[in-house]
Amino acid sequence: AGDLAGRHVTVAGLGVSGLPAARALLRLGARVTAVNGGDGEGPRRQAAELEELGAAVRLGDDRTLPEGTDLVVTTPGFQPDSPLFRAAAAAGAPVWGDVELAWRLRGPDSPPWLAVTGTNGKTTTVRMLAGMLRAAGLRTAAVGNIGVSLVDVVLEQEPYAGLDVLAVELSSYQLHWAPSLRPHSAAVLNLAPDHLDWHGSMDAYAADKGRIYEGNEVACVYNAADPATEELVRRADVAEGARAIGFTLGAPAPSQVGVVDGVLVDRAFTADRQRQAQELAEVSDVTPPAPHNIANALAAAALARAFGVAPAAVRDGLRAFRPDAHRMTHVADVAGVGYVDDSKATNTHATEASLAAYGSVVWIAGGLAKGATFDELVGGAAPRLRGAVLLGADRHLIAQALARHAPDVPTVDLDRTDTGAMAAAVREAAALARPGDTVLLAPACASMDMFVNYNARGDAFAEAVRALERSATED
Ligand code: ADP
Repeated sequence: AGDLAGRHVTVAGLGVSGLPAARALLRLGARVTAVNGGDGEGPRRQAAELEELGAAVRLGDDRTLPEGTDLVVTTPGFQPDSPLFRAAAAAGAPVWGDVELAWRLRGPDSPPWLAVTGTNGKTTTVRMLAGMLRAAGLRTAAVGNIGVSLVDVVLEQEPYAGLDVLAVELSSYQLHWAPSLRPHSAAVLNLAPDHLDWHGSMDAYAADKGRIYEGNEVACVYNAADPATEELVRRADVAEGARAIGFTLGAPAPSQVGVVDGVLVDRAFTADRQRQAQELAEVSDVTPPAPHNIANALAAAALARAFGVAPAAVRDGLRAFRPDAHRMTHVADVAGVGYVDDSKATNTHATEASLAAYGSVVWIAGGLAKGATFDELVGGAAPRLRGAVLLGADRHLIAQALARHAPDVPTVDLDRTDTGAMAAAVREAAALARPGDTVLLAPACASMDMFVNYNARGDAFAEAVRALERSATED
């Protein structure tokens, strides 16, 4: 990719993936034009920063292609059918995502990638994986969609110099635009409808996720309980000798990792011919030990084992793991009711796992639905719902599903999208809850109608719970 010097590269979008890409391209001697639809304060600040480094920036028009563009490097804000890409096709300029750019920029001694995608559990799984690799004495980092630019990583920007192996989180957006990617090994954790507005259909979404298996050298890790993930392995063109490795919450077949009597075991990478189960860790080594999280631990273990990590390091990595914020985070108990922040549950599949982990729940939900439907989720959860409190732009979709499948569940429709709505939601939920219940924020929706991101949404919830706690102790 040294041949990028002197080439005219248009970077589509600023922000967390556009900026590092543009900076890297400038360092490599490319002529960079960044285009961005928005022209508010944030983009103007980022534009000034790039212009200082020598880029041209065009704000307010992201539909037409700058004259003389040789290559477009894009970011997730641009849907595949964006006018800019039609213009690029007409001009004969290829379109790469930041992952494609990173993959092409990596040197011959660049560390191998253990890659993870899926609708839910990606961040958790790459963090567990990085912990296992570290426990094995390897120099590694959790990178990619987790908030670390892969372009910076492959160019060995500090602190990413001299790593042995990478634990890489990849989104469906990134995979869509990464045709040359060929990981050492990869896992698709699960497949459920999400981001369908971007991909156009479930098939297109699945196909984009499936690209992660292309050219895998050692192991294609799939979810034995989710046949769609195994189907993606079957369709992939992998390297000779690469194996399909399933993970299951039950007893593993040969070539699977699974669970036997509360112990995580490996029947895929054992040395003996009988493929006797090799013990890896106890279920109680996984935090929290909820079924979906044990599945994440098994997927991480399969990738670590594919890279030759010893069983004891798998166990030590799991023991060292602590979940990130806003993922089933217990905030407080007030008047015998538990309050849990799972703001990161931004789709129905995550919310389903979340609701299943608790007994009797007062559910706080709503936001931007991203094209999802809620009948299946609500139908399955109805027996455990003490009540529901709905807020956000698409709350009526959830209200309709509740009316259809859980008409007896008391539901408060807040009819608000202002930021103070979360405090009101927590008060309404507290009024519905009885001792022993859990008030669970698991919105099944994106947050951007009301908040900057899911972190801000979870923080607003936690703050409201603490206010409730204070007023409870004052009484
Ligand atoms: P991602 O990076 O894919 O968004 P996270 O690990 O951040 O995944 O978890 C996102 C949400 O999904 C959280 O709400 C979490 O409780 C839930 N979750 C985590 N792992 C799984 C899984 N394997 N299946 C279903 N839901 C999950």
